[in-house]
Amino acid sequence: SISLAEIPVLRALYRTVLKSASTTRYNHNSALLDRISLFQGDITELQVDAIVNAANKSLLGGGGVDGSIHSAAGPGLLEECRTLDGCDTGNSKITKGYDLPAKHIIHTVGPVYSESKLPTVAEQLTSCYKTSLELAVASGLKSIAFPSISTGIYGYPIADATHIAIDAVRSFCESSDQKQLERVIFVVWSDKDKHVYEQLLPEYFPQE
Ligand code: ADP
Repeated sequence: SISLAEIPVLRALYRTVLKSASTTRYNHNSALLDRISLFQGDITELQVDAIVNAANKSLLGGGGVDGSIHSAAGPGLLEECRTLDGCDTGNSKITKGYDLPAKHIIHTVGPVYSESKLPTVAEQLTSCYKTSLELAVASGLKSIAFPSISTGIYGYPIADATHIAIDAVRSFCESSDQKQLERVIFVVWSDKDKHVYEQLLPEYFPQE
């Protein structure tokens, strides 16, 4: 498994991507940079307080990252999920991590993308990140890793979803002197998704 210390913080990323940062929004808290990471690989290998699962409303498993998490966590996870009575779109529920190196799993239900359902789907995706972060803090957790929710089987365009993901995390970390979460990790699987995050992260977390 991959420990928190092995996951690079965003500050390191800047060496390669600062040149491509076109927009600078604002930055009144440079310490935020030391709390955000981008990691490419399998989320089930991360040794963090919680990994987020892009689940469906049943919370009983599915394809994509959900399938990988259930396989890696083992049958205890499904047993606990059966007691949760599902979850609404945009909401989140927490379980133990079972056989994963992560201590907990936060199951969030992203929207199925449809352009005709904007802005509702955008609000629901924002809510996935916000409710997951709130649940992590309420559970006393200090590190959390997010996959790119809704951008696989659920079809949310990656650039739009990434703006939402990064903005929601930044807003949360900046709000109400939120100091408990020490690390928030964006996990990408494909090279294409990694490039989108590398382009957009500097817009939201400018170095200077
Ligand atoms: P959704 O149904 O919410 O669209 P998916 O699981 O289909 O969820 O995809 C969400 C994202 O997770 C996609 O970018 C996909 O490439 C990525 N992904 C799939 N497996 C893993 C994994 N093991 N670790 C990290 N990310 C993964």
